[in-house]
Amino acid sequence: MPAPVEGLATADPGTLPLSAASSLFQRLRATTPQLARRAPGEHDAARWREHRIGERRYRVAQPVTFTPYAAARPCSARCLFCSENLRLLDAGAMAQTLRPGPDHFERLSAALTQLRGLPLSWSLSGLESSDDEDWFLRLLATLAAAERDGVQVEERVLYSNGAGFARGRGEELIAALRAFGLSWLELSRHHHDAARNQAIMRFRDGEAIADGAAFARVARRLSEALPLRQVCIVQRGGIDDADGVRAYLDWARACGAGTVIFREFSRLGPGYRDNATARYLEAGRVPIEQVLSACMDAPWWPQLTPQRITEGYYFWNLRLREPRSGLEVVFEASDYAAMHRRHASGDIYKLVFHGNGRLCAGWQPDRDVLWPPGADTPARGDAGGGADANAGLAERADG
Ligand code: SF4
Repeated sequence: MPAPVEGLATADPGTLPLSAASSLFQRLRATTPQLARRAPGEHDAARWREHRIGERRYRVAQPVTFTPYAAARPCSARCLFCSENLRLLDAGAMAQTLRPGPDHFERLSAALTQLRGLPLSWSLSGLESSDDEDWFLRLLATLAAAERDGVQVEERVLYSNGAGFARGRGEELIAALRAFGLSWLELSRHHHDAARNQAIMRFRDGEAIADGAAFARVARRLSEALPLRQVCIVQRGGIDDADGVRAYLDWARACGAGTVIFREFSRLGPGYRDNATARYLEAGRVPIEQVLSACMDAPWWPQLTPQRITEGYYFWNLRLREPRSGLEVVFEASDYAAMHRRHASGDIYKLVFHGNGRLCAGWQPDRDVLWPPGADTPARGDAGGGADANAGLAERADG
């Protein structure tokens, strides 16, 4: 179900807790025609679905995404900001440390039978799916079989650092994704200069995608086969000003991207352990408003036409279009505290199948467990903790 669209000028800012809190909201409101409310209103019956999982009935937000967490092996990159490494003070197991058992795909299929009849979108994220080609191909086949068996799928999105596509079986993966009906692929790269990107992403030795020419080849090939969105997380040492944004846009367009997304590190809120990743996020954070405001003052800004602000349940973004090139440009911020509040509400905003064989309503593999029955400790709706935010490539399937 696509998020409904309305005029932004007449929308009540009080109903937009994330975008209207931005210091740029009034300025953006004056030039942006549309508002999309991706998060359903509390009493908007058309945006909630009652759905039974096991013996319990739940209220599920529409749209909702399902992530089969890519837990087959550690990621080919070691991004300094990777949210897989964030820990809540009261967190249990980390999703990224759980390796799937031999019956993983049977358990995934069993969990998916619980979701028949519920409109959802596939959101393939968490670590790097393409790092294990056999696992990834089997995952796609399992999801496709679930669709044939009655799971209602609206969109299919892959979040990737591109590593698997730069190895020997890239064409095989692309063909499988085309057959799967992928809606688009979000490819992360945080600087157009390969050395500066590598200082951020730290691909492991031998990963061809670390090289700038190899990345450009992969991106162009992907863009020939699939709708391609390139994702840049703004940060100190990376893209952090208007000149950097312009240079990145021109480079990404030459790589074949139809959309470029600039994201701020997710805002954490309280409750996270003081580890190396949390410290990096604090030291390297560049607020999206800082970058956006610099771009709005740049001489090239009038080349972009503002289209829409989207208010999600834990993110907001501004979408623009460059008519000359056809490029779509997105600036985005997200808030993990808002995400935790929603995940702890008792309603379902997110579905994740973890490496331990559990279907959960969030990113933490031992909380908010929906399936199998009886595995939930503590009970859903307990607002004392909330789910962890191990979202890896922060996903916003807001089409
Ligand atoms: S952010 Fe994504 S690509 Fe980077 S280390 Fe984490 S999972 Fe891998």
